[in-house]
Order: sequence, then C-alpha cells, then structure tokens
Amino acid sequence: MPTKPFNVLESFRLDNKVALVTGSASGLGAAIAIALSQAGASVACHGNRRAATETAAAIGENAAAFRADLASTTGAEDLFTQVKEKFGRVDILINNAGTIHRAAAEEVTLDDWQQVLQVNLTSVFQLSQLAARDMIPRGGLGTNCGKIVNIASLLSFQGGIRVPAYAASKGGVAQLTKALANEWAPTGIQVNAIAPGYFATTNTEALQADETRNRQILDRIPAARWGQPEDLAGAALYLSSPASNYVTGTVLTVDGGWMGR
Ligand code: NAP
Repeated sequence: MPTKPFNVLESFRLDNKVALVTGSASGLGAAIAIALSQAGASVACHGNRRAATETAAAIGENAAAFRADLASTTGAEDLFTQVKEKFGRVDILINNAGTIHRAAAEEVTLDDWQQVLQVNLTSVFQLSQLAARDMIPRGGLGTNCGKIVNIASLLSFQGGIRVPAYAASKGGVAQLTKALANEWAPTGIQVNAIAPGYFATTNTEALQADETRNRQILDRIPAARWGQPEDLAGAALYLSSPASNYVTGTVLTVDGGWMGR
C-alpha cells in the first residue's frame, strides 16, 4: 500500500507551476508548451526569429511570448531575465531550442561549429544554471523544487552523417544532463533528457524531402512512421511533473523503436 493517499493522475498536474519552453514557436517545443499548459502550468514561450506569439495565443491567458537569440552568449540571461520579470519564477525548464548545420566534416567552418555548440549545448548549461539558482532557494533534500528537461537526440548516442557539430552538441547534452542531475539531486531538482527519434518538423525537412534518406529512415524505424510533435508530449509532461520525482539523470528515447533495433 502507498505510504500516504496517492492518485497517480494527480501527480501529472502542474497547477501553479511556471514553465519556460525554449524554441516553442514551432515543432516539438510548441507541442510541449501546449501539453504543459493543459496540465495546468503557466508557460513562457520562447522564439528566436520571432517571439512565440502563436503558441502563446493557442494557450491563452496563462502564457506569454518571448524572444531571444541563444546563439549569442548573452541570450540565455536576456531570456531568463524577461521571464522572471513577467512570471517571477521558473519551476520547469525545457531546453528544447536547437539548430543543425549539415555539411561534410572537412567543410564545417569554426563559426558554424561554434554557433551549433552555443545554441545546442552552451545555452542549455547557461539556462540550467540560471534556473537552478532560481529553484535552489525553494528546495532542499526531500523537496521537489524544480524540473529541467533537455531535448537531446538519437545523435546523443550515434554519430550521424554530415552533422558533426550537432552530434557533438547532443552527446554533450546527454552528459550534461547526468552531471547536473548528480549535483542538483540533493537540492530537489530533477534533470532529465528526452532523445527524440525522427520527427516531422522543420529540423528534418531536408531528410524528409530526400527520397532515398526518407525511405532508409522509415525502413529502420520499427513503428514505420515519422514521429509527430504530439508523440513527445506525454514524455515531456511525465518528466516535468511530480510523477517523475524519483527519476533523475536519465535520457528517455521516444523514437518508434529505433534504438532497440
Ligand atoms: P524546429 O521546429 O526547427 O525547432 C527548433 C527551435 O529552436 C525553433 O523554435 C528555433 O527558433 C529554435 N532555435 C534555433 N536557433 C535558435 C537560436 N539561435 N536561438 C534561440 N532559439 C533557436 O525543430 P524541432 O524538430 O522542433 O527541434 C526541437 C529540438 O528537438 C531541437 O533541439 C532538435 O535538435 C531536437 N530534435 C529534433 C528531432 C527531429 O526529428 N525533429 C530529433 C532529435 C532532436 P527559430 O525558428 O525562431 O529560430
């Protein structure tokens, strides 16, 4: 028997929580932002080229749209300051923003390399650090003061082809997830990652449009289809909610079976 009255569905609620979802103007981030709001969270929706106003409008009054360029070393602080001014706190941080540069390894310029590493890895560390400084004063051993969910990739495990900076950054995201989870578990912050498989978003447009690669990819996915952004929502909610309070430092694949094959 549970030690105290317990309703598992209640443990997925996010009432009175504030979530920041980076890169939520489109794709996976938009689906995650909407899912967290459906569970009761207020959501800060971030975009880069444009503020995530459409996602915020779809959510309604418990959302606000922000804009910041995480390719800039000051972008994370700029974003976090804006969100704190509006909402006063951050309880859930979803590090979803990401970029990809496709080129043969010998052709990649240092600027391209650094841009991918800054957006996909360094800004994840910067935002996590800012979030932890906000969460830790509300925490302590045995509390659950914050959730950080990093969007990793199958290229956290595999090397990929013609995307060396992306693979290096996402490998780093998986390791950073474990490092931060170890350090911050005693403060009551859980840090986890989701490794999406092949999802139909702008990030993968080039692959979807390449008939040969598209067929090769579908042939290898046991579920035999591209993931849709909504396919990620349940995993994101789980790792953002009290339902996962004893889960930290894990990288959860949501990939139609790719990694098991
Ligand atoms: P997406 O629709 O292109 O979303 C990427 C998001 O990141 C966009 O909202 C984009 O904003 C933002 N972003 C890009 N550069 C940025 C910058 N310099 N500063 C701040 N934000 C920036 O693609 P997605 O597939 O949903 O990708 C979301 C995450 O999932 C990424 O981390 C990606 O690596 C990861 N992922 C995707 C797949 C997949 O199959 N789709 C698989 C594994 C992992 P702007 O559009 O405004 O620039």
